[in-house]
Amino acid sequence: MTTSNAIPSVKLLINGEFVESRTSQWRDVVNPATQEVLARVPFATTEEMNAAVASAKEAFKTWRKTPIGARARIFLKYQQLIRENMKELAAILTAEQGKTLPDAEGDIFRGLEVVEHAANIGTLQMGELANNVAGGVDTYTLLQPLGVCAGITPFNFPAMIPLWMFPMAIATGNTFILKPSEQDPMVTMRLVELALEAGVPPGVLNVIHGGADAVNLLCDHPDIKAVSFVGSTKVGTHVYNRATLNGKRAQCMMGAKNHAIVLPDANKQQTLNNLAGAAFGAAGQRCMALSVVILVGEAQAWLPELVEKAKSLKIGAGVEPGADVGPVISCAALDRVSSLIATGEREGARLVLDGRNPEVSGYAQGNFVGPTIFDGVTAEMSIYREEVFGPVLCVMHAATMNEAIALINANPNGNGTALFTRSGAAARHFQEEIDVGQVGINVPIPVPVPLFSFTGSRASKLGDLGPYGKQVVQFYTQTKTVTQRWFDEDEVGGAVNTTITL
Ligand code: NAD
Repeated sequence: MTTSNAIPSVKLLINGEFVESRTSQWRDVVNPATQEVLARVPFATTEEMNAAVASAKEAFKTWRKTPIGARARIFLKYQQLIRENMKELAAILTAEQGKTLPDAEGDIFRGLEVVEHAANIGTLQMGELANNVAGGVDTYTLLQPLGVCAGITPFNFPAMIPLWMFPMAIATGNTFILKPSEQDPMVTMRLVELALEAGVPPGVLNVIHGGADAVNLLCDHPDIKAVSFVGSTKVGTHVYNRATLNGKRAQCMMGAKNHAIVLPDANKQQTLNNLAGAAFGAAGQRCMALSVVILVGEAQAWLPELVEKAKSLKIGAGVEPGADVGPVISCAALDRVSSLIATGEREGARLVLDGRNPEVSGYAQGNFVGPTIFDGVTAEMSIYREEVFGPVLCVMHAATMNEAIALINANPNGNGTALFTRSGAAARHFQEEIDVGQVGINVPIPVPVPLFSFTGSRASKLGDLGPYGKQVVQFYTQTKTVTQRWFDEDEVGGAVNTTITL
């Protein structure tokens, strides 16, 4: 924590105004490649957070009645502004988060796709109608906005994940309170500025900053109707329990331990390239990062080549051209990853590539850890049981695909998985038997495009409906079913021509 005034402060957004917090509690936003302090972020006061909710509640009165076409046009403009500012957004993201510039553009682009989807809200938020459910009686549904909704986001996708949330919530007619990650809120705030420039009216989108207190306030506040969360399983489970106990809708997308199965008939070079990219890209800090590979049968002999691929990746600051693996988010994250690697060795896994303490020219202070591979990992080891969230790949072996499937289904997490094979029959068997939300067949590991919704099984997700796509329209709306009949002038009373009880 710091109280220095020499560095820029991240603002709150309340009722259309970017305001300086009056709090005495601040945290530094730090460049993970250099330790340069980029800004300080406030932990908002209760009064400020309540003001944000009050502003969203007031704005809902008019926003909910704003024509759907007017809402859609804001997102048409917004996607254009994001495209025009892509380079600037990526530079901010890389500075505070560490991922490479191409990866940062990917982070923004995946969010941009959701904004494009929000611009289609006219066709997404349509109800249904059944004509003549009884004589002269029609029934139809309205998908109406809930009111004030809230979103809590993690550090690893500071552009994509906020964009999973507020565009679709606002497009469906709700107002929104966003609580970005306190570790890298700056690109999120720039995206929020662009949303206002695109025409989001005052009070419709508000931003508060903070940690556990802010999250708990959002879960408790009686004027908030729904909470979207993306982050770790521990915090997400707390958010789900607390928000739903308070009668709110909640959707919590949480931790992962993503496995890939490699069958010996797979395209070898494609598979090895894909495995290296998925395990070590973004320094393993993707919720869809590949953290376990199970080599089946003769594919077990491919390990030395996988190690060579991993060794060829370039470790460097995200701004450096050609960098493949950037730093992890914080010194604390680096300590945690390093200590888990040490535990892996102690517990008997074979460290075939040790990425600790790499030399990164010009960035001696950075939180770097290079690609790390353990062979002979078992399900009891800490490096297998815990989500490492760093560039560490566990290699396991199986005699058959079914043995590998059983291992994956026994893991508590069910976020993403992939199979590499040339066999359609094997792929279909895998697709049917695996209990994981996102399944890739020769694709490691897919985040669905916004025509679909993100999902998850078991400990990776709580709540029925996922972010973006069709499911989130259901999540952010209340279905109202209207049954109506109209009387002709000459009909008397309500009993004529009807057989249903209303
Ligand atoms: P995190 O759970 O530490 O933080 C997420 C949010 O919760 C942040 O806004 C943070 O301020 C808040 N928070 C932190 N501690 C809290 C507490 N004790 N009480 C209340 N709120 C608290 O997650 P992170 O480290 O920022 O992100 C990494 C995690 O997110 C990984 O587990 C990763 O798998 C997961 N993730 C999942 C998905 C998915 O779609 N399933 C996507 C991205 C990230």
